[in-house]
Amino acid sequence: MSKYIQAIRGMHDILPERIAIWHRIEERARDLLAAYGYAEIRTPLVEVTDLFKRSIGEVTDIVEKEMYSFADRNGDSLSLRPEGTASCVRAAIEHGLLVQPQRLWYQGPMFRYERPQRGRYRQFHQIGVEAFGLAGPDIDLELILLTARLWRVLGLGGFRLELNTLGDPDERLAYRGQLAAYLGRHVERLDADSAKRLVTNPLRILDSKHPQTQQIVADAPSVMEHLGPESRTHFERICHGLDEAGIGYRVNPRLVRGLDYYNRTVFEWITEDLGAQGTVCAGGRYDRLIEQLGGRPTPAVGFALGMERLVELLELAGHAAARPVDAYLVAVGERAQQSATLLSERLRDAVPELRLITHCGGGSFKSQFKRADKSGARYALVLGEVELDRDVIGVKPLREEGEQRELGLDELAAFLSRNIGDQRGPTHHHQADS
Ligand code: ATP
Ligand code: MG
Repeated sequence: MSKYIQAIRGMHDILPERIAIWHRIEERARDLLAAYGYAEIRTPLVEVTDLFKRSIGEVTDIVEKEMYSFADRNGDSLSLRPEGTASCVRAAIEHGLLVQPQRLWYQGPMFRYERPQRGRYRQFHQIGVEAFGLAGPDIDLELILLTARLWRVLGLGGFRLELNTLGDPDERLAYRGQLAAYLGRHVERLDADSAKRLVTNPLRILDSKHPQTQQIVADAPSVMEHLGPESRTHFERICHGLDEAGIGYRVNPRLVRGLDYYNRTVFEWITEDLGAQGTVCAGGRYDRLIEQLGGRPTPAVGFALGMERLVELLELAGHAAARPVDAYLVAVGERAQQSATLLSERLRDAVPELRLITHCGGGSFKSQFKRADKSGARYALVLGEVELDRDVIGVKPLREEGEQRELGLDELAAFLSRNIGDQRGPTHHHQADS
């Protein structure tokens, strides 16, 4: 017997029973981003490998060991995108979007060859937000407040906001020297990766997950001592804004982020409820990246949030239930079966928001009612010989006590319009599409 083919390790199907939470996050985020004036951008999943090398940096986990790169048939090296910022910047340069400030967002799958574990997958999904052409701390603050609002809208709480600044390139360089000198004195106790990075990218050592390296890092000099007045003011403005907005945060001088392109502000939202993979959202400022990728010098700031981690948090909070359909049309007998599809269409015309499953494939009343019950529908609509002769449709509540009633088509439409609204109550926030 041939063995069936399975999905690739670390890449997961999202089954219908879990999709409701994805929709919930996507819908809330989309509404919120629109409300702040951000426009969605969609870019290809595949880009030229050099785009990521030049942006994320050659000496980063992502580029060194996590990219899905392959030769196209013509020999070009391409990569599945490991993140969205580089593609966003490329698109903005390519289409001349940078002549004015841009507030953009994107969503979709990202690909990294990592060791799969809870909260860490090889295909995962992000919603990302980028603001181009805005240099001041006000936009950094806006992005952080936007995320804080998203957590509220989603009903998620208890996240910790960590904040740091990496300074501007010259400040960062001075700090880098001092840090490398300090870490150099402890090189024997650094993990192998970190020891290697001592020369190439010492800042990334601050970010190491290796316990012994973390101990050494705990006493490392802080970037704060190397900030010039402008970087300092920028950072202080954000802190002040957060204070005024009543958003708690913790300044973490070890927070550097895994990508090379950040300067000044970096931040992460972290939860204690997901084990080791607790960062649900991460971002920062990257004022040099656009120029580095061939665009006119343009300040930029952005963040990305991890969908899988948010989905798991919402599931832990008990938000799993998908909204069932409103009605299930049961049709028994050949004549009824033939009329059922058209009757359903007329009901859909009359009640556009109706969620209705029309039974297909025949069978007895009993077996069709079983299906109706399983579907979670609130009402079974019944069409048999008797109903056809009398030009009515039977309506039987499935979730509460109640006799089957007979209604004409118009009455039925009115009845459904009145009654399918109720159960949408608080969990659905009266969305336009519900
Ligand atoms: P980490 O330090 O956990 O590897 P990162 O710095 O690589 O994170 P980013 O590139 O900043 O992460 O991605 C932003 C967010 O995307 C993360 O905070 C996380 O929520 C999510 N994310 C990143 N990598 C993965 C992954 N492999 N699987 C699931 N979610 C991920
Ligand atoms: Mg990573």
